[in-house]
Amino acid sequence: MKTYDVLIVGGGIIGGSIAFELAQRKLRVAVLDRQELMLEASWAAAGMLSPAPDCPAAIPLVPLGRASLALYPKFVDAVEDASHLRSGYRTGGALEVICHGDAERELSTLVALQRGLGLACEPLPLDEARYMEPTLGRDARAAALLPDECSVEPRALTSAVLAAAGSAGAALCPGIDVIALALDGKKCIGVKTSNGEIIHAEQVVLATGCWSSQIPEAAPYAPTIPVRGQMAALRHSGTPIRHVLRSERGYLVPRGSESPQIVVVGSTIESAGYEKRVTSGGLEKILSAANELAPELAKAEIIETWCGLRPGTPDQLPILGPVDIDGLVFATGHYRNGILLAPITAKLIGEWITERRVSLDWEAFSPLRFLRAGADRSVPA
Ligand SMILES: Cc1cc2nc3c(=O)[nH]c(=O)nc-3n(C[C@H](O)[C@H](O)[C@H](O)COP(=O)(O)OP(=O)(O)OC[C@H]3O[C@@H](n4cnc5c(N)ncnc54)[C@H](O)[C@@H]3O)c2cc1C
Repeated sequence: MKTYDVLIVGGGIIGGSIAFELAQRKLRVAVLDRQELMLEASWAAAGMLSPAPDCPAAIPLVPLGRASLALYPKFVDAVEDASHLRSGYRTGGALEVICHGDAERELSTLVALQRGLGLACEPLPLDEARYMEPTLGRDARAAALLPDECSVEPRALTSAVLAAAGSAGAALCPGIDVIALALDGKKCIGVKTSNGEIIHAEQVVLATGCWSSQIPEAAPYAPTIPVRGQMAALRHSGTPIRHVLRSERGYLVPRGSESPQIVVVGSTIESAGYEKRVTSGGLEKILSAANELAPELAKAEIIETWCGLRPGTPDQLPILGPVDIDGLVFATGHYRNGILLAPITAKLIGEWITERRVSLDWEAFSPLRFLRAGADRSVPA
């Protein structure tokens, strides 16, 4: 019987990054995925590395996002060295553009909020913003530079991470559908697969993205919800776009710096269950937002459309760490930030598994918070 130190269920960016971390720590690791690896959210993502909160609920995530962004240069170096593959990592910042409402007031709120959270944010006169990004449209009423933000190409990075994990000794196992955890009382001893097999391990890490809530024993700790995002890639022959451009309606992420240039545009935020379908309404929404930001893109060729399912959670925060079942650790629910949060997630899970301590307070992300919330709800009024 084959047994591992750690079984990681889920071969996306999160499972792959944890596998790379643990394999470097000389543990016997396997990554199980029910299909080919990296075909889900990690394949679909835009690749912005932005620790800026997109809503008040995301504010507790900022320290984790900043820590992960700081780890990125070393993470990318290690992954690229081990895999001999590129990740498309690119620095240079993002422009936040305000096209509607009381733009001056919104700009000063944005700058104050970002700076209050320790994030660099510089208001830009519009002529300077247009000098930096000549494609910026006339609808722009105010702009700010977020100079520390970066981006990656998620498909390239996830392939590289998985290859790096493989070259460090992790077993990559596609085609294994995990239907349940194997429990011995309050200890997790492995996983049960759809063909009736039990695979044993000292520790199991669930990195199953939005499907985490479908594993019965995991559901109370990880009530993940799929949140669909539609995307398109355009071939743009005008002046190349140099920064990520973001407005209240959507974003553009440039790939490469030469014309013709690929520009990825997104995204919708939809509750559509597990249905992965690109819709005309979804495309209309993201393309009109893109054309408002950079009107030249109206002439660009659409070369690909796709969608993916983000691992959402009821409080929009990730689900990280151990629970009251020995040998079981969660690394899921990264919602809109899993690409950004991959390095810090791998570091914290690696520390917990090998040292039983973590270097950053992750209490707010504990899977046990959902059990506590359930218990609170069951107290009679
Ligand atoms: C349109 C879109 C744009 C995004 N843009 C960004 C961005 O710009 N920046 C950012 O940081 N994040 C972004 N995200 C979010 C990011 O993609 C996710 O948070 C991240 O990819 C989650 O990674 P994961 O490995 O947890 O999940 P996934 O990549 O979904 O991987 C989960 C894996 O688990 C496998 N699995 C599930 N259940 C089982 C089972 N029972 N047995 C075996 N295998 C199983 C699946 O097959 C899958 O391969 C975006 C997401 C989308 C959809």
